[in-house]
Amino acid sequence: MNMKTVVITGGNRGIGLSITEAFVNAGYWVFVGARNESDLEAKFGDKVTFIPTDVRNDSAHRHLVKQAIDVTGRLDVYINNAGYSEWRPIEEIDDLFLDDIIATNLKGAFWGCKAALSAMKEGGCIINISSIAGKRGSPNNSAYVATKFAMNGLTQSLAKEVGSRGIRVNGVCPVLIPTDGLIEALKSPHGPAKGDGAGFIAKFGLENAALKRLPTGAEVAAMCIFLASESSSAVTAQNINVDCGVFPQ
Ligand code: NDP
Repeated sequence: MNMKTVVITGGNRGIGLSITEAFVNAGYWVFVGARNESDLEAKFGDKVTFIPTDVRNDSAHRHLVKQAIDVTGRLDVYINNAGYSEWRPIEEIDDLFLDDIIATNLKGAFWGCKAALSAMKEGGCIINISSIAGKRGSPNNSAYVATKFAMNGLTQSLAKEVGSRGIRVNGVCPVLIPTDGLIEALKSPHGPAKGDGAGFIAKFGLENAALKRLPTGAEVAAMCIFLASESSSAVTAQNINVDCGVFPQ
């Protein structure tokens, strides 16, 4: 079978890096779009093509798609993973903050979907990395939560819009995974960790997860591999929790 092509935004660090690794191991041509290359070349050599990308820009996604198609002649999977969280109470949310988190987490996914769908053929799929924050609110987190609720709506709507083209659109909703981004965000005095990120994460898993632990980036990546595969050919318009049973549905 011919090699498939995947584009992964934010595939250089954190959960995205786990996704990159999984798709490399599954034999895909992998294109990563992010602002920094990090150590992708040292880790994966020519198995991963890095393309400088700011997901807030519509044109950056079109460039990513064009590069992938110019080199491989196809686009099978597009994964909108780039994003960040920052806890802030409502009185500290200003225009600048709100514009940037929406531009990155939500508009970034819109532009990614739009660019991917302009090129994707029957059998293609889009995967949006959302969060269980897209399904339930939490204090001092309204901006991030709003972007992820909106992303889940984007996923459901586009799945209905492009299903007749044989293209599937799904979301993956992880819970706390101790990436650099999360550890940094948890330093905020407004977040739930109160200065003890590692302690908070350990306790959260024990107290809230059915499995008494939290998922890993590799487990989120495994869900992405499933959603990109023929094994999930009847699965679309879903936002699937990968949360060790924190939020039963
Ligand atoms: P990290 O902060 O560790 O990584 C964020 C990634 O997004 C980096 O690769 C970064 O690359 C990229 N990125 C951020 N802004 C931009 C931008 N403007 N343009 C291009 N790339 C950008 O975060 P995580 O791995 O923790 O999170 C990844 C995704 O998973 C996010 O969407 C997050 O909301 C979601 N998630 C995370 C959870 C967690 O607990 N960690 C739980 C639930 C969901 P660079 O800086 O080089 O551009």
